[in-house]
Amino acid sequence: MADPVALARDLIRCPSVTPAEGGALATIETMLKGAGFTVHRVTFEEPGTDPIENLYARIGAAAPHLMLTGHTDVVPPGDEAKWSHPPFASEIAGDVLYGRGAVDMKGAIACKIAAALDYLAANGGKPKGSISFLITGDEEGIAVNGTVKLLKWAAERGEKFDHAILGEPTNPQQLGDMMKIGRRGSQNGTLVVTGTQGHVAYPELADNPVRNIAALMVAINAEPIDSGTAHFGASNLEFTSIDVGNRTVNLIPAEARARFNIRFNDTRTREELRKLIEARAARAAAKIRWHIEWEPSNADVFLTPPGPFVDLVSGAIKEVTGLTPKLSTTGGTSDARFIKDYCPVIEFGLLSQQMHKIDEHVATADLVALTAIYRRILERYFAQ
Ligand SMILES: [Zn+2]
Repeated sequence: MADPVALARDLIRCPSVTPAEGGALATIETMLKGAGFTVHRVTFEEPGTDPIENLYARIGAAAPHLMLTGHTDVVPPGDEAKWSHPPFASEIAGDVLYGRGAVDMKGAIACKIAAALDYLAANGGKPKGSISFLITGDEEGIAVNGTVKLLKWAAERGEKFDHAILGEPTNPQQLGDMMKIGRRGSQNGTLVVTGTQGHVAYPELADNPVRNIAALMVAINAEPIDSGTAHFGASNLEFTSIDVGNRTVNLIPAEARARFNIRFNDTRTREELRKLIEARAARAAAKIRWHIEWEPSNADVFLTPPGPFVDLVSGAIKEVTGLTPKLSTTGGTSDARFIKDYCPVIEFGLLSQQMHKIDEHVATADLVALTAIYRRILERYFAQ
């Protein structure tokens, strides 16, 4: 049987900090080819971005088609001197494996591969339907030459997916306590207030945008946006910076800007939210000159509603861990926001506490248990 710990160690040794491939996809390619997968290595690029290597592998030709997906790129280690085990040495101390990507998410990819190989070995080398691996090297970066393009590339080849499991770290405390069945949408904007520049000692001759932007910010945040839904928390707007850039003590500036982000639930659309925020600003504005610059966004809200697929995954988690996972939509955005346009997607992986940290690590027991969970999912999925 494929050993998820050994495979995770091999992957962590590959220094695949976005946009570098670092040998991680080559390692996966070798493993999957050996098990009979047809493997494609696909590089995407566009002007102004780094070219990124991605991998798509499939075994089987029939439905149902289950996509196992994730990313091999990792965030930089930061100050390597602060690590007690070097970030790409893949050292084991006690029952803990250290290294960048241990939980986010080379560990989970290793578990998926080990589970798939074990499932195939137990079933004559072929699934009853199809298993594919869709692995990107561009998740932690700007994510333009990764999953978005890989999905489109696969669709153009005629690939059709029935369900997907993304291996991002989802468990806050222990393996089995949470899976994600959706994600909130995200929208960035900048509130811009224009004033009239002048001498601070002659305010009557100026129009101070600092006073005015403060008034609009209060008005925009005066009421909650909503109170949440069955599967989502309340939509929320947070201001993240106020920028005037005025270094002169006796000058009233000409303009003030405030950046904000909205995380929104499944009762909201982007367009409706923009109107709502603009209406709040307009009501408070009176003579204030203002506008909002809305950034383009590809992070829409989505939900994979509870049903047979969610039950299947949840049941497999319970079978191995004894825990019934909470069905959550919390956290930031993930590549699931792109996958949901092709098939229902859920996320389940390792523990989330260690993501992006110095001394990122994973318990080897968690790698073994997560492999068992993915293995049970495959068993149940193709037994349907
Ligand atoms: Zn990740």
